[in-house]
Amino acid sequence: MKSAIFLERDGILNDATIANGHAQSPLHMADFRIRPGVAEELTRLREAGFLLIATTNQPGLADGRLCRSELDLMHRFLAHRLPLDEIMVCPHAEDDNCHCHKPEAGLFTEAAFKWHLDMDFSFVVSDKWYDAAAAHVAGCNSILIESPLNGQGHHDFVVKDLAAATDKILGLHSPNGHITPEVAVA
Ligand SMILES: [Zn+2]
Repeated sequence: MKSAIFLERDGILNDATIANGHAQSPLHMADFRIRPGVAEELTRLREAGFLLIATTNQPGLADGRLCRSELDLMHRFLAHRLPLDEIMVCPHAEDDNCHCHKPEAGLFTEAAFKWHLDMDFSFVVSDKWYDAAAAHVAGCNSILIESPLNGQGHHDFVVKDLAAATDKILGLHSPNGHITPEVAVA
């Protein structure tokens, strides 16, 4: 079985401003910027054998703020620049009651089925509480990167940036594919 890293898109892979307690997704390709250092960290994770899956809520598709063709342009660019295996989108509004709008776990459970993932050894990396909540439901580990969107709910780890998240994952994930207990460094 394979293990995966689920990467939140806005704020982790690409820049997203925060306003009114929410990340503001870019609506146009011209405003879409991949964050510095992301390609290097994803390459480290890929070389350790993880599948890399981006996930994102894009309610702008449902309320008309975001064109599907513009989103497709952004995601073609993302897939070209980063070693991603899949980009999964919830296109619904928050009140559509779908199963894929995080904190619902549908994107993660769908990927687990499709890719035959070992969720015990898979990780969600995000700056948002709802990804950690969905990870908990889907039975995988969660690493939050410090942000005003971390919230107070369940999560497994908090780190300062994506490089630290990568270090944490590679430190926990031994070469034989098992998560090793953390060892204190003297
Ligand atoms: Zn959805």
